[in-house]
Amino acid sequence: MDKSKTLSYFTSPLLSKHGVPHGFFTRQANEHIVYENPPSKKYMDSAVDNRKSWLRAIDIDDHGFVFMECANQDKILDLGKNSPFNITLSDNDAVLTNSDQIALAFTVADCVPIFLFEPGQRIIGIVHAGWKGTNGGIAKRTIEMMIENYKIAPKNVIAAIGPAICGKCYEVKNDVGDLFAKKYKNINNGKIYLDLVRANIDQLKKAGVKQIDRIDICTFENTHLFYSYRKENTPKRFAAVIG
Ligand SMILES: [Zn+2]
Repeated sequence: MDKSKTLSYFTSPLLSKHGVPHGFFTRQANEHIVYENPPSKKYMDSAVDNRKSWLRAIDIDDHGFVFMECANQDKILDLGKNSPFNITLSDNDAVLTNSDQIALAFTVADCVPIFLFEPGQRIIGIVHAGWKGTNGGIAKRTIEMMIENYKIAPKNVIAAIGPAICGKCYEVKNDVGDLFAKKYKNINNGKIYLDLVRANIDQLKKAGVKQIDRIDICTFENTHLFYSYRKENTPKRFAAVIG
């Protein structure tokens, strides 16, 4: 954990080795955001300030900003090289770009956050994999889109999986459990627990990704570090940013 800056965040050694600015920010980094719908001006201003402080913390405050408001579905968007700056996307759970002027960001609390990086064309990507996205193969399909759009070799892609709820803590009902293979489920006292991280790692491997980092911290068990929707029933989220 890097505490040397104003905000603390966790990093992937593989991404750091390649000099990719990124961070899974602890809850301290957006403690003061209370989600509002509809949002007030005060909320909007504090959200913009927060987003700027994330970029400052990872030394890319010169970058434009693309914020992905997760839709909890499985749609992927490739922004390409000439993406507009300082926009909020509300319809996607994965975004790609090969611009080196843009930071991609989203917020999460229990779902699986994934960063992607391809060094040859400097493609970066973010994936938000909840149960719907995971069931829709979002991690695998995002790699397939990278291959299709950029003709890259998936073995060169680095994937970094951030803090997420673990397979012992993520209880689901039968209707969700039935969608997943047995190997992703733990049954305990008649309750079903789903291992979303494992399912996403398998999808990345199936798509040909060989370099996978994982920050193995369960959000449900570590609410002093990260927000957990399941544990706290909170509208707050922690940030994941890559530039
Ligand atoms: Zn756990």
